[in-house]
Formats: sequence, C-alpha cells, structure tokens
Amino acid sequence: MLNTYKRFPVEFVRGNGAFLYDVSGKEYLDFLSGIAVTGLGHNHPVLRQAVIEQINSLWHVSNLYESTPQENLAKELTNISGLNSVFFCNSGTEAVEAAIKFARKWGKGRYKIISALNSFHGRTYGSLSATGQNKFHLGFEPMLPGFSYVPFGVIDEFKKAYSDDTVAILIETIQGEGGVNVAPKGFIKELREFCDEKDILLIIDEIQTGFGRTGKFFSYQHENIIPDMVTTAKGIANGLPLGAVICSSKIAGSIQPGDHGSTFGGNLIAIAAANKVVELIDDNLLNFISKWGNTLMNSLYALDLPFVKEIRGKGLMIGIELEKNISSKKIAGLMLNESVLVGTSGDSVIRLLPPFIITQNEVMKFLLSFKKVIINLSGLIK
Ligand SMILES: *Cc1c(COP(=O)(O)O)cnc(C)c1O
Repeated sequence: MLNTYKRFPVEFVRGNGAFLYDVSGKEYLDFLSGIAVTGLGHNHPVLRQAVIEQINSLWHVSNLYESTPQENLAKELTNISGLNSVFFCNSGTEAVEAAIKFARKWGKGRYKIISALNSFHGRTYGSLSATGQNKFHLGFEPMLPGFSYVPFGVIDEFKKAYSDDTVAILIETIQGEGGVNVAPKGFIKELREFCDEKDILLIIDEIQTGFGRTGKFFSYQHENIIPDMVTTAKGIANGLPLGAVICSSKIAGSIQPGDHGSTFGGNLIAIAAANKVVELIDDNLLNFISKWGNTLMNSLYALDLPFVKEIRGKGLMIGIELEKNISSKKIAGLMLNESVLVGTSGDSVIRLLPPFIITQNEVMKFLLSFKKVIINLSGLIK
C-alpha cells in the first residue's frame, strides 16, 4: 500500500456500539468514530437491517434511472436544511468539488472563492486549492487559480478579500482538521449578511460538523441562518461512502443535465443506510449530544490537568489544546495503550469525536484514561 498514512500498530476486526475489538479480541473505546463518521456507533441494528435488505435486493443502478430512495433522502435533507436540491457523490472532497463547480456555473463568469486560513476542504485539486493550509499544498503546486485565504472568524478580512469576480465564501463553522477552532459567535451571521449584500454564495462545509455532531443537525443551525449551499459526507451514512451537496433553488436553476455527474454517487446501499441515519438523528438525540458534550467539556475542565491549555468545541466535537512541547500524536498513542481511540488536529490538539450513543461509563473510562496518561507524562517530564 502506498505510504499515505502513518498507521498505529493495531487492527480492528469487529465493532459494537462505542467499542472496537482487535484481532486478539481486546476491547477499545472509540472516541474517534472513524473521524466523525460512525456517529451512531458500530454495528447499529437498525442500520445493519436496512443495509442487509438493500444488499439482498439491488446494489447499483446508474443515475440514468429514477431512484425513490435517493429522492426520499433528498426530501429529508432539503426539509432539514431549509434548502431545495441535492446532488449525491461519494465523499467529502467530491462534495466540495461539486459545490465549487455549481458556484462557478451560477456565477456566470464570477469564479473566485474566499476561504479561511487553517480550513480543510479535501484532497483533490479543487477542494485542496480551497484548503487554507500550506502544508497540504506543498509538493502539489500549482493550485487552481481563484482561491484566497483569510483569518478565520475575522469578518473584515473576508470583506477586504472580496472583489468583483468573487462568487462565494466557503467556510467551516468549526474548523475540524485545523484545530477544532469554533467560529466566534455572530461570525457566520455576518458572513451571511455580507454575501447577501454582494450577491455571492455562502457555502458551508458541514462534512465534519453535520449530521448531529455539534448538537444541531447542521452546525449553522446554531446561528439561525440558511446558507446557499452545504457540503456533507462523513457521518451521512454511518460508515458507507456517501456525500451530498444541498443547494438553494437559485443555484439549482443554473444546473442542467450533463453539467456534473458520478457513476457511484448515491449508491443504493449507502443511501439505504443514510435514510435510516436521518431518521435516527432526531431532536432527542440532538439534545443528548449537546448534554453529553457539555458534560464532557466541564469534566475535562474539572480535572484541571497539567499541559492542557484550552478545551473547546460544541456538542461531541471537542478539541483539547496541549502546551506547545506536548505532541498530540504522542498522547493519541499513549491513549491507544490505554485502549482508547482519540484523534488529533494538527501537532498540539487532541480531537474527540465520540459516537452519539455514549453512556456515563464510557465517559468515565475516557476521563480516567486521559487523566492517567497526562499525569504519568507529567511525572516523566518533571
Ligand atoms: C474530512 C473533511 C473533508 C474531506 O472529506 P473526505 O471524505 O475525506 O474527502 C472536507 N471538509 C471537511 C470539513 C472535512 O472534515
């Protein structure tokens, strides 16, 4: 296999709820959820049943033919988002690529997109060009023309970056890969107002924050705004490859047959899972996510651990920023030794993305393990 991932020396062969099991049967607590993918936990009985039924009837038909399951999911996604039309693809980066194309098509010659420094939008050339982190560009230049990056959360910088050929602003409400940076209160609303004033599009990348992760179905719903376009993937089908772009009717009006496409996009098996995911992420679960998110953050604060500089996030998307001399990768490795999976976000932030089905016991297990790892380390470093 090509050396694109530095892998931990462990292999998981089975999962159930918030737990994974390695080849020897050892149990691990999963506070990463495959990077915000398996929000409803592993081997969810309702999802498993829906997928098995689809596998037994039909795997794939071309998007040249009608699809009631796709239409049902599109109906749910437009209802929930406040938008009008959906395009299905297979991943996050494909959703962002599609959004860039749709924005340019709508723009009729306007083509520039402003995004944020420290953003992450994907690995293919359009989404990579939109990503405001040099480390992802290095060695792959030149990027596509028409992208500029300004400091996240600073509305005046976005206004300054605007020009007559700007077509859209592309933004995460919480930068996931960039450090779990939460947009300052009111910032997304200010972007909405500025986009309205200039008649440009506000595109929100909900690939990591969507599908309940922050305690609302889409994270922009905390701000009471409706974007023009939303990109989703990761949690949408709880582990099967699916992505979706949801857009307003004015954008949909500029797209015609042949403008974009995907052979696999909206695959029936992934759609079968997603239709159940949407059903399962109801108001009860969203309240539960908010409640456990607050509990987890408050408990982390209460531990008052050395090396911890800041704890931030929303719902069950939480970042723990460590002091500069402490490597997040090292802590993630030590946590794995304690049978707990956590993520990282850059060199100094631990990223927690637990499944939405966690219980008191699992939160306690995480807190005790994290405390042990940090206290042990402080003993070694002193
Ligand atoms: C993960 C991620 C992407 C890319 O998704 P892939 O499915 O890995 O291509 C894009 N944007 C955000 C915000 C993400 O978190």
